[in-house]
Amino acid sequence: TLPQPSIVGSTAGLQRSASAPSQEHALPQYGRHHANGNGAMEASTSGANSGVSIELRNISFGYQPNRPVLKGVSLKVEPGQSCAVVGPSGSGKSTLLRLLVRLYDVQGGAVLLDGIDVRELQQGSLRGAVAVVPQDTVLFADTVRRNIRYGRPGASDEEIDRAAEMAQLKPVIAGMAKGYDTLVGERGLKLSGGEKQRVAIARAFLRQPRLLICDEATSALDTATEQGIMTSLEELAQGRTSVFVAHRLSTVQRCDRIFVMQAGKVVEAGTHDELLRAGHVYADMWRSQAQADKEHERCIPEPMEA
Ligand code: ATP
Repeated sequence: TLPQPSIVGSTAGLQRSASAPSQEHALPQYGRHHANGNGAMEASTSGANSGVSIELRNISFGYQPNRPVLKGVSLKVEPGQSCAVVGPSGSGKSTLLRLLVRLYDVQGGAVLLDGIDVRELQQGSLRGAVAVVPQDTVLFADTVRRNIRYGRPGASDEEIDRAAEMAQLKPVIAGMAKGYDTLVGERGLKLSGGEKQRVAIARAFLRQPRLLICDEATSALDTATEQGIMTSLEELAQGRTSVFVAHRLSTVQRCDRIFVMQAGKVVEAGTHDELLRAGHVYADMWRSQAQADKEHERCIPEPMEA
């Protein structure tokens, strides 16, 4: 059996452990949003920068005793930076994200946000600061509107509309029989993987987080859908700190910093260009993905002539 995590919940509903230390801190809530006169959302950035800083200090973690998954990971991300975590399947990328939002506690070292150990953060403070676009978005058997509003329950219809537009979800909604009132989920309309991810992005737009975390879906989306989703995410990431777990390196090559993981350790870090120049693990991954893409292209049949 697995050890019980001290925090149990979906990535959308982070909750703090009941055994909270007496000294609790709150993360400043910069970048909260309000509707302006036109119903559009505006950032109220009361700080110089609305992103959080991240520091992982030599963290170690395993789901089971004697099976370490992360083995002394250290990294730093400055406020407002975008970063990517890449590496082979099973190297610990998603686990790292889970520790960042305190779904589990580290067994060694510390996770610091704005210089504060996440174990000392006030209840609700983490939740208010972070939005997660998960691998598999959970949709409720409810209307499209309420599914988006889940990102911020108090959001107005105008704010939901704006979030749907930012997430490029409006053409999809326009094609639905009852628009925003269409039932989706269990007994309603079934959305594709890409459409569900857009709902998650719209929810994240409503939250206007200081830290955006995206765990890329392993199930391959077609290139056009993937590019569209990345464009929406890059827009959302503007002015915030963002962490992307990515399988396809081409989607994160513009990130400020890329961390390469192998077997529970960060083995390389840098920009795309720096890592290519270094000619180690990342450069090999890049070359083999480019090769695979080329072969895939060759397999696509030419369009038939009329
Ligand atoms: P992928 O690219 O396939 O998503 P990853 O790099 O994100 O992989 P993780 O999902 O973090 O890797 O998994 C790292 C290791 O931890 C793997 O050996 C995996 O089997 C194990 N693991 C992940 N989640 C759990 C869990 N809930 N319980 C037990 N072991 C787990």
